[in-house]
Amino acid sequence: AALTLALAACGGSGAGGGGADGAAGNGDEEVKVGVAMPTQTYERWIQDGNNVKKGLEEHGYTVDLQFANDDIPTQTQQIDSMITEGVDALIIASIDGTALSSQLDAAAAANIPVIAYDRLINNSPNVDFYVTFDNYEVGVAQANSLLRGLGVLDKDGEKTGEKGPFNVEIFAGSADDNNSRFFYDGAMDTLKPYLDDGTLTVPSGQTDFDTVATQRWQQETAQKRMEDLLTSTYNGGTKLDGVLSPADPLSRGIITALRGAGMGPTLEDGLPAVTGQDAEIASIKLIDDGVQSSTIFKDTRDLADEAVNAAAAFVEGEEPDANDTETYDNGEKVVPAHLLDIQPVFKDDIKPVLIDSEYYTADEVKKGQ
Ligand code: BGC
Repeated sequence: AALTLALAACGGSGAGGGGADGAAGNGDEEVKVGVAMPTQTYERWIQDGNNVKKGLEEHGYTVDLQFANDDIPTQTQQIDSMITEGVDALIIASIDGTALSSQLDAAAAANIPVIAYDRLINNSPNVDFYVTFDNYEVGVAQANSLLRGLGVLDKDGEKTGEKGPFNVEIFAGSADDNNSRFFYDGAMDTLKPYLDDGTLTVPSGQTDFDTVATQRWQQETAQKRMEDLLTSTYNGGTKLDGVLSPADPLSRGIITALRGAGMGPTLEDGLPAVTGQDAEIASIKLIDDGVQSSTIFKDTRDLADEAVNAAAAFVEGEEPDANDTETYDNGEKVVPAHLLDIQPVFKDDIKPVLIDSEYYTADEVKKGQ
């Protein structure tokens, strides 16, 4: 890595101070970190990218941050060039968790530590660390939020005695994203007793992961599938009560389809309860307006901090701090992970959880942007 002005900014401490021999970024050289993010179509990845960049820069590192437009060849090429540039560590949120093996081989050959960001990278021994949220718990929380939205559970997660029966439909994320299965499994394990005892029914019969998955997490795809379900299953007057949606943009597509079919326009007027994930500002406004039922807040500021800490540990020749060494088997090894907690958000939670923590201002919530 070349000597640059970044050196002046980092002063005597911080980057590479440990001078760990053989580790990347030793001595007085500039430390550079490659950050590969999947797309800018989801608000969260833009925030993730910016937060990680900022945190790394605070360590005095230079950063090559790239977004790949949800296109696998673009992402592999971006990572190839980061390796050629001689980065000292890689932080990667993959598009397809199985498509990066040759990049990771090259990184290992060049002694570049690889941190999987939010999404696990599969089928490679060369993933050194994984920072993420508790993905199974996200699914559990989505299912419980759906049950609360239907009135089956109360605010504290206790059963109300309400047994429906309620009609629901199920959506899952992109099949090539390792997280999608965790979300789906957490949700379906939680819903199973209610499906078994008839509190919930899925009138379309579509519950199998591959059938309900949404390729590349695309909003239009979810909207179209919801429209098709309304036509195929709900035309004869069958009432739809709720939809398990795994991410806010999909939730908004689903809500557009429901409203387009004349439902709602708000929960109070009978719009089905739709769940979500990521606490995107447009969905927080919809929750505040009584349109979307809930979302799951994952504080990406904390995730960015964990990724930065992990990169700094590797740069200094140390091991990052894992709090899970059992869950994330990528097919080649169990990747040591740091998992963060998640938080369901309903209308009443917007102020204490999102505004008081300065994730959003009250004004942003009001405007939805
Ligand atoms: C992330 C979610 C996000 C989804 C779509 C998942 O891997 O964990 O937070 O909503 O990708 O971008």
